[in-house]
Amino acid sequence: MTSKLPSAIFFDLDDTIVAYDGNVRPIWQTLSDAYAAKTKAVDANVLFQQIMEISRWYWGDIERHKTGRQDMKKARREIVRTTFGKLDLDTTDADSLADEYSKRRREEIELFPQARETLEEFQNANVRMALISNGEAALQREKLTRFELEKYFDLILLEGELGFGKPEHRVFRLALDKMSLNAADVWMVGDSLTYDISPANELGIYTVWNDWKKKGLPPDCGAKPDRIVNSIHELL
Ligand SMILES: [Mg+2]
Repeated sequence: MTSKLPSAIFFDLDDTIVAYDGNVRPIWQTLSDAYAAKTKAVDANVLFQQIMEISRWYWGDIERHKTGRQDMKKARREIVRTTFGKLDLDTTDADSLADEYSKRRREEIELFPQARETLEEFQNANVRMALISNGEAALQREKLTRFELEKYFDLILLEGELGFGKPEHRVFRLALDKMSLNAADVWMVGDSLTYDISPANELGIYTVWNDWKKKGLPPDCGAKPDRIVNSIHELL
């Protein structure tokens, strides 16, 4: 454990504590293969690539992202329907394919290795912790319950419960206020430069970027994390 610990740490959930996005491509690849084999209506790889392209388009827009993440099931249905439309496929099966994807994404979420030990060590060192997570309340609560994570946090702020979330400053300010903290005494740890790092940085919070993909900072990204780690365990 490093000697200089903060009073508190704000953690993001997805791809910071739980592994989430790493399953996207393998699951879509599997489902595209199965759909192509069953229907013979399209080449599996063409379907897979088109789903990836439409997903990037869908989630690439900050306003659409905001609406979509409040109802992931609906968002994924829209992505698959749009894909099927582009490929001139019969849309009868689009929703069931999207729903199967949602089911598998939920099933395949797991804790990052040593994530629990990391949270436990901080708790033992009396570092207070808050969780600040975007997305649907039910889905996020399900993850917290399933991995028994609630007990580590003094405060849990979920966008789906609050009606607002990252990257808005007010969610970070709310956490600081509720825990009576100064920004200078806090770390924000998250994987998103846009949603976690930049806004926290602007508020004077020490920012730690979880570069779990080990890709390094993209050139000209504008975000300036104070520290970069490949897993939260490195914080100890
Ligand atoms: Mg995240």
